[in-house]
Amino acid sequence: MYKEYKVLNKEKIKQSFKAILREVEIANVKIELPAYGSIIRKKIDFNIFHRNINLLKNTNVVCYPLTDAEQFKTTTEQTFFDISGGKIEIKYNKDILTIIDPKGEYLVSKVKSEREKFLAMKDLPAILKQIFSQNDISTLKSLLKETNEKLLSSIIEWYMKKEMMLGSKIPISPSVPIKGNKTLKYATTMNRIGQTIQSDNEWQNTVYYLFEYSSFKNEELIKQTLKNLFLMKPDIFIFNIRNYKFSNKKAKIERIILKSFFDGLNKLKQLYGTTIIWLNADSLGYLSLGLCVDIFVEPLDLNFNPDLRIQRREDLEDDTKKTAQDMLGIFFNPSDLTYLRGKEIYAWFNNSNSFPCNCINCKSYENSKFPFKEYNEFRRNHLLTMRDQHITELKEEIKTDKLKGAVVDRISQSNEFSIFSSFF
Ligand SMILES: [Zn+2]
Repeated sequence: MYKEYKVLNKEKIKQSFKAILREVEIANVKIELPAYGSIIRKKIDFNIFHRNINLLKNTNVVCYPLTDAEQFKTTTEQTFFDISGGKIEIKYNKDILTIIDPKGEYLVSKVKSEREKFLAMKDLPAILKQIFSQNDISTLKSLLKETNEKLLSSIIEWYMKKEMMLGSKIPISPSVPIKGNKTLKYATTMNRIGQTIQSDNEWQNTVYYLFEYSSFKNEELIKQTLKNLFLMKPDIFIFNIRNYKFSNKKAKIERIILKSFFDGLNKLKQLYGTTIIWLNADSLGYLSLGLCVDIFVEPLDLNFNPDLRIQRREDLEDDTKKTAQDMLGIFFNPSDLTYLRGKEIYAWFNNSNSFPCNCINCKSYENSKFPFKEYNEFRRNHLLTMRDQHITELKEEIKTDKLKGAVVDRISQSNEFSIFSSFF
């Protein structure tokens, strides 16, 4: 029964690690792979990311959702006001790859607040205005079904130009969430049209697939996805899996299919040199760096499903019993790469008078009171510091061909990861 929880075999991990160091150039941005990036949704994310960025060695990707990007006007040099009111000028001391997530899910899922953000965009084409203000998805469906390519192409072109205008280096097609053959076909059609637009504008050949987690129950679907990718030969492949629970004990089939997906991506990478980016990944993204992924991008607020966040916030308003501890955000535990909920990290701190980490941020609170006021900034600083350190270690170990110290230790000792032993 507990077979799956056996500790990962260190030698096996070492042997099956496929991570290599390489440098790629994407739209004049040079990045040394593997690398890490943050998803920025709120002003606090933006401020913390930019306050840290020049100190971080292997964090060179930033992603803004299209619906939030406008407020950040992502030029490489700009002045903004931090929380204390001080002026900060952004000057990167290295190349930064900016990605704008088109948020294609809102073409089909009706999250009111997000759809309203689209509707507030002044240059939104009439057809998109119609799609976002409708309560059904018939317009989009008929567009996709009848392959009204001219109109569909104008929609995709609007997305791509908007992304580029907001500072993105790679224009990506708004993939509808994939949950079966039909939606895979739609997403592929959109990407194919996107590739034509990319080539007309001499932009990088990029394919983006947004999966529902349920796709990973369907072996044939993932096989077909890989087939499509081998035909499309992208320079960059970005994927995102919504609400995944691969580390759930019961998700055996999903794990097997994820492994075959990773194997396929690794072949794609070997054949075409494709840069593989996993958007909205948690610690599993770190493990995947050893298998096929080049860059994993994690939300800086550690909220992997922003749609649920909205509901939760509403729940909280009704619940007067919630305490300050309940309101604390998720904390990244660097020792075993798991996450602690606000309540758990608070209890930990109360028991040990410290956080489970030795980074400069965490150390500064040793033997003091729990930093309620600074917590939200602090946990972001801590996450960036530790992720960057972990990627730096990984690269160092690949370089010296010694993949044994911290990286393998961390993976082999984590309960969260031991369930992925079949990956190695
Ligand atoms: Zn720390």
